[in-house]
Amino acid sequence: MARAYNFSAGPAILPESVLREAAEEMLDYKGTGMSVMEMSHRSKVFEEIIENAEKTLRELMGIPNNYKVLFLQGGASQQFAMIPMNLMKNRVADYVNTGQWTKRAIAEARMYGEVNIIASSEDRTFSYIPEVKDLKISDDADYVYICHNNTVYGTKYNQIPEIGDKILVADMSSDILSEPVGVEKYGLIFAGVQKNVGPAGVVVVIIREDLITEDVLSGTPTMLRYKIHADNQSLYNTPPAYGIYICGKVFKWIKDIGGLEAMKKINQEKAGIVYDFLDKSRMFKGTVVKKDRSLMNVTFVTDSQELDAKFVKEAKAEGFENLKGHRTVGGMRASIYNAMPLEGVKALVSFMQKFEEENRK
Ligand SMILES: *Cc1c(COP(=O)(O)O)cnc(C)c1O
Repeated sequence: MARAYNFSAGPAILPESVLREAAEEMLDYKGTGMSVMEMSHRSKVFEEIIENAEKTLRELMGIPNNYKVLFLQGGASQQFAMIPMNLMKNRVADYVNTGQWTKRAIAEARMYGEVNIIASSEDRTFSYIPEVKDLKISDDADYVYICHNNTVYGTKYNQIPEIGDKILVADMSSDILSEPVGVEKYGLIFAGVQKNVGPAGVVVVIIREDLITEDVLSGTPTMLRYKIHADNQSLYNTPPAYGIYICGKVFKWIKDIGGLEAMKKINQEKAGIVYDFLDKSRMFKGTVVKKDRSLMNVTFVTDSQELDAKFVKEAKAEGFENLKGHRTVGGMRASIYNAMPLEGVKALVSFMQKFEEENRK
């Protein structure tokens, strides 16, 4: 059986060893005679699965005790609404606009209150991260919102905004667990897991306890209140049990590699190989300002759309899947999440080299 080099932005590649383990446990999880898909979420066995998943995640990210970890549903997109519904006490929030996913978050938040865009990189097609110093934070803002890694455009924050004592909220859907994070700098971190962690259907929310209150916007449905999920250890209703089980295995896989410092080194090495090639190439070029380049999503173009299309097509024929850029931006994007092996990145660069030689004018 041949596994493709899958450069999809999400749902995305998962560690092969995790998939193999899950396959082995598919019909009979540890002598229970059933799959994790089939068991009660109130069972002892599942309780252990979710508790261990949380424990390993806490260890990996160094999550302080005054933060709750929630495993929710509704995708990252549901957080675009949950955040204002739960945190917008003054009905004002500041957002930094860095692309597709912050635009969606801004549009959603505007349904609940006043949204100030305190910085934006839209003027240059989101190819950089706006200056994070001297931001005009609104006095009455309930929180400041950023997207830490911009999946579509391939940018990431290397420094987080200076926002004084305001609450920082971050969408880390496409770079959670790719490198260490100072969780204590944030009020809330969330991530849809289907980019860098697990199967679609789970959202991890890491939220400081003092932000979990009964005081939510009126009309907020029960299922959209952080408090109900926090009070019930993510088991208020049936959680995405199988997804949480896979996430737990991926957390363990990262721990076995050596944790987030080790993961970061590997990610820097992989991304470095692609960016070095792009910087030397006379055919391909990166689309992002160097200092803001993502370690996870590498965006690039040639000088013609025809050549871009030819590249994507020929790459696919060689087993390199999903290299087409996001439908809204075109060009190419190689998503090289944690689970993409080093050899996949090397193989891609070799293919790009060969393509360049063959198609030079
Ligand atoms: C994919 C993605 C989303 C949307 O995730 P869904 O789970 O599909 O709602 C939001 N933010 C970022 C940064 C993403 O990469």
